[in-house]
Amino acid sequence: MKILFASDLDGTLIYSRNSMGVNVAEEELVEVEKINGKPYSFMTQTSHQALLNIGSSAFFLPVTTRTQAQYERVTGIFDGAASPQYAVISNGAVILENGKPVKEWSEEIRQQCISKKTVVETLLPLIKRYFSEEWVLNIKQADDWFVYLIIDRAGFPDDKLASYVQVFRKIGWSMSLQGRKLYFMPESITKAGAMEWVKARLSAEYVVAAGDSLLDLNLLESADKGFLAVHGEAFRNNAAISSHIQITEQSGIKAGEEILAHVANIAQQQG
Ligand SMILES: [Mg+2]
Repeated sequence: MKILFASDLDGTLIYSRNSMGVNVAEEELVEVEKINGKPYSFMTQTSHQALLNIGSSAFFLPVTTRTQAQYERVTGIFDGAASPQYAVISNGAVILENGKPVKEWSEEIRQQCISKKTVVETLLPLIKRYFSEEWVLNIKQADDWFVYLIIDRAGFPDDKLASYVQVFRKIGWSMSLQGRKLYFMPESITKAGAMEWVKARLSAEYVVAAGDSLLDLNLLESADKGFLAVHGEAFRNNAAISSHIQITEQSGIKAGEEILAHVANIAQQQG
């Protein structure tokens, strides 16, 4: 059976020093991303090896909210192997095929965003109206697809998040808080939609998915089996999840190891 392993990267397979959570010996870490010449994201040796091994029994599909430039920094995960044929980036607005965006896909998504009036230009005035507080450090646009605020986590009013979510959901935007980033995502842009496109393209028959945030839930729901990291935004918000989705026992960078061990087992059994 052809198996697709569709996985989020940050906070699921790869971790920054701030998000890795548990104490891991330096010699256990594999650096997978540099920013300005400095190591930024890591996997454990065990995770890294497991991911490379999975490549022989399942088709690995990275599914990330990173933009193309941000995704292309994470070269370390594929060290010693070819980079994946497909990658879902910008939360599903863009699909890379052999490193190049699939134009027809993104054009279709753009049309959906325009018809639902969920384009960045319509959102920015609202963001400026609602978010003028000191805890907003920066407003960023991701290749004109969506917006995220860089926030001062200590100053952010957690108790107001639910009401913000309601306001923006009414006009077609999903919100997600991941570390210091508060995302505003058009409802037409989903990880699940792009994953389904790749699944059909590859004629895959079984999908295992993994993630940690609210933006990953549709991906996990569309899969045959899902793994949700216990430390992530989705589990902490008590999001409703279906019975085919399993919560990890381990947290932080060790949750990545646990997910990859499960996926290796599934790939062996189903393959
Ligand atoms: Mg994540």
